[in-house]
Amino acid sequence: MLDELLSENPDLKEAVDLALQHTMWRKRRCINLIASENVMSPLAMLLYLNDMMHRYAEGKPFKRYYQGLKYVDELEVKAQKIMGELLETEYVELRPISGTIANATVFRAFANPGDKAVVAPVQGGAHVSHTRYGTLGALGIEQIDMPFDIEEWNIDVDGARKVIEETKPKIVTLGFSLYLFPNPTKEIAEIAHSVDAKVVHDVAHVLGLITGKVWENPLKQGADIITSSTHKTFPGPQGGLIATVSKDDYKRIGKVVFPMFVSNHHLHRLAATAITGLEMKLWGEEYARQIVRNAKTLAEALAEAGLKVVAENRGYTESHQVVVDVREHGGGAKIAEILEEANIILNKNLLPWDKPEDIKNPSGLRIGVQEVTRWGMKEDEMKQIAEFIGMVVIDKKEPSSVREKVIDFRKNFIEVHYGFKIESSDEERLLKIMLHGE
Ligand SMILES: *Cc1c(COP(=O)(O)O)cnc(C)c1O
Repeated sequence: MLDELLSENPDLKEAVDLALQHTMWRKRRCINLIASENVMSPLAMLLYLNDMMHRYAEGKPFKRYYQGLKYVDELEVKAQKIMGELLETEYVELRPISGTIANATVFRAFANPGDKAVVAPVQGGAHVSHTRYGTLGALGIEQIDMPFDIEEWNIDVDGARKVIEETKPKIVTLGFSLYLFPNPTKEIAEIAHSVDAKVVHDVAHVLGLITGKVWENPLKQGADIITSSTHKTFPGPQGGLIATVSKDDYKRIGKVVFPMFVSNHHLHRLAATAITGLEMKLWGEEYARQIVRNAKTLAEALAEAGLKVVAENRGYTESHQVVVDVREHGGGAKIAEILEEANIILNKNLLPWDKPEDIKNPSGLRIGVQEVTRWGMKEDEMKQIAEFIGMVVIDKKEPSSVREKVIDFRKNFIEVHYGFKIESSDEERLLKIMLHGE
């Protein structure tokens, strides 16, 4: 039936094929090392398909501008509660549909156009939304960078003190997209609070490490607010999150989310976020510990294979990331492309010594092990992945020959770990309900 339909309609066939090919390729034949991605468990994915994807719910739970939301209201409160338990606060906002929207909301809530924000240095790996080119700039807030200490691979606290005390910003942001070691939250928060600035710590990359208790929770270190995505080390659906410890800040944030940055908030995410949160309550600590072990093992194995892994003096990494300087091999763009030919997917990245104009071919590669960890890979597999990367980058083997080995290796890791397991008969039953309502 479907085949007939597709053969009669070439445009339909193309659209369907592209989505199917992508899924089969990325889920079964690639080693995905993009540091900002992950996969949901089958149960979370199936529940993601619920009818809430078609609905509107402007406003807060139980105070909506639409009808038909009795289940949505309860589910939103439930998801907030689960995330709040993981983050040890009762004030969680899940309506921002992405990390960028979460940032926009908080920046707008605590600064006006013309105000200043001192941000974790872009040179050290801050996200574009913290810059004049991104959300901060769109809101007319001035971006002032803290200095970065390349030796320590972190914010230079003394330098930051000077900048914050001199400029007296409304907001100080922390958090990186290239994130190897925790920022000095406590020290920066003390300085920021002495000039009455709000500390916004963007934990998009490390949320799953925080809920897994291997990374500091900035809310316990003096940060006023955290913003995040829900789909990087935290392996939920794509979405945003804001959490705070202050009821007043929470209320203020709530008034900005809607009506300023979301109307409907992609309600089908809520069930999947709740399910992933429950998975992290059960298995999140084991998952996070394995991620960090895997990252350290991969860093060491890559260094042994002859690659220049950064931050050797600090033990390479304490997060899910490993960063490699590949200038001597032709730069990040070239290496990321040839690795893709071998079905190893990762991204090029600016490193602290690069200039903005190096963006097209920066020095670095950013590698994340959170998704391969979720597929059940451990230290031995990290060594194997380092060997694959070494074959392509150092030994200059034909990428297509390495690809065959990668596909073969990947066949052993087809089940999502650290998540709820269900039978295929359950999958069928749930899918039928999602598609047809019963
Ligand atoms: C990924 C990222 C974001 C943006 O999140 P989206 O959900 O993609 O909008 C914001 N901040 C940091 C630090 C990030 O790494």
